[in-house]
Amino acid sequence: MQLTARQESLSAEARSYVAREIAPYADAWDQRQAVPDTAVSGFAAQGYLGALVPREHGGAGLDAVSFGLLNEAIGRGCSSMRSLLTVHSMVVHAVTRWGGERQRAEWLPRLATGESVGAFGLSEQDAGSDAGRLSTTAERLPGGGYRLSGGKKWTTFGQRADVFLVFARLEGQITAFLVGRETPGLEVVPVTGMLGTRASLLAELRLDDCRVPDDALVGRPGFGLTAVATSALDIGRYSVAWGCVGLLAACADASMAHAGERVQFGKPLAEHQLVRRMIADMVTDTAAARLLCLRAGRLKDARDPETVNATWMAKYFASVKAFRAAADTVQIFGAAGCAEGHPAQRMLRDAKIMEIIEGSTEVQQDYLAQAALREHAV
Ligand SMILES: Cc1cc2nc3c(=O)[nH]c(=O)nc-3n(C[C@H](O)[C@H](O)[C@H](O)COP(=O)(O)OP(=O)(O)OC[C@H]3O[C@@H](n4cnc5c(N)ncnc54)[C@H](O)[C@@H]3O)c2cc1C
Repeated sequence: MQLTARQESLSAEARSYVAREIAPYADAWDQRQAVPDTAVSGFAAQGYLGALVPREHGGAGLDAVSFGLLNEAIGRGCSSMRSLLTVHSMVVHAVTRWGGERQRAEWLPRLATGESVGAFGLSEQDAGSDAGRLSTTAERLPGGGYRLSGGKKWTTFGQRADVFLVFARLEGQITAFLVGRETPGLEVVPVTGMLGTRASLLAELRLDDCRVPDDALVGRPGFGLTAVATSALDIGRYSVAWGCVGLLAACADASMAHAGERVQFGKPLAEHQLVRRMIADMVTDTAAARLLCLRAGRLKDARDPETVNATWMAKYFASVKAFRAAADTVQIFGAAGCAEGHPAQRMLRDAKIMEIIEGSTEVQQDYLAQAALREHAV
């Protein structure tokens, strides 16, 4: 599928930035369990955090395919950095689509420049795939504003974020709120030692008598899950799907380079048929995942609601294949690929996370089968 000249050049620029500023440091960041602040500022200075912010608010206002290509480029270098783009863009999308005029004017210019980094707080201890079970509460205060109580688990870039999109039950109905980092009653507790995307500065959020003003509410009461989270998760899923295309390509590149050099039994690994089979699968899966992502992106740009299903399918396929490719990459590198600090090891750990976030593999299988069966019955 052909890209426009602008999309081609944006993708080439991003790939060159990633090759210079991100990929060479990804293993060190993984080991230190943190993308450093200087890297976040550099990323923001490129305008990447403003990718989805409309132009009138100071962002790049990218079309969906361009945004996907950006995620692909970043995902090729470092899934932790790509996950910053994912969660920040989910918040940008929610404010743009569901925020009031004042909220948009206040937050979007800051989110565009990276003066404020956004994070997404939906999952809780007892509410993961079944987010509708969340138990954080919001209570309307007599003098105005709301009191939030509860907690959020696994908030990507929570350690670094300046503003959180938090979902809570207001009179029983799930509702979205923007909570600034300095809000009294909000405690940010770092989460370390995760299996993958280890540099993505995860945090747990504790909300205890956390008071936010009336204009912290995003969308209407009760719109939290069905509208705000659902549409933000569609963007998140799309971002992760493209990130997996980048990860697949990185696995294929690393595997081919090593298989071409490493000689065993008198010839390079690349000349052993069983190794060639793994490489054939990687390049085919990369191409197929990319096509599914492009289809989802084109449907988004055409404002076709079918994009939602197409995005589920793209993310399902790309994440499953990325994990397979990363496992094969470790296999091709042998013991070296198992060693600490080796990119193959990091890519395998990161790829497993992709099968859990933004709708796990099983939840996606269930969703896709249901959608197909519904259509079949018509
Ligand atoms: C690195 C990382 C970063 C994250 N970042 C964020 C973030 O920024 N914000 C946020 O809100 N959350 C975040 N999450 C949480 C993520 O969204 C959840 O992990 C995800 O929704 C799955 O929930 P769970 O982990 O509680 O697993 P569970 O929902 O308990 O699922 C456990 C297992 O059961 C399976 N399962 C569940 N339901 C079904 C079903 N109906 N049929 C078949 N199998 C099923 C799942 O597929 C999975 O294999 C992050 C998670 C990780 C690991």
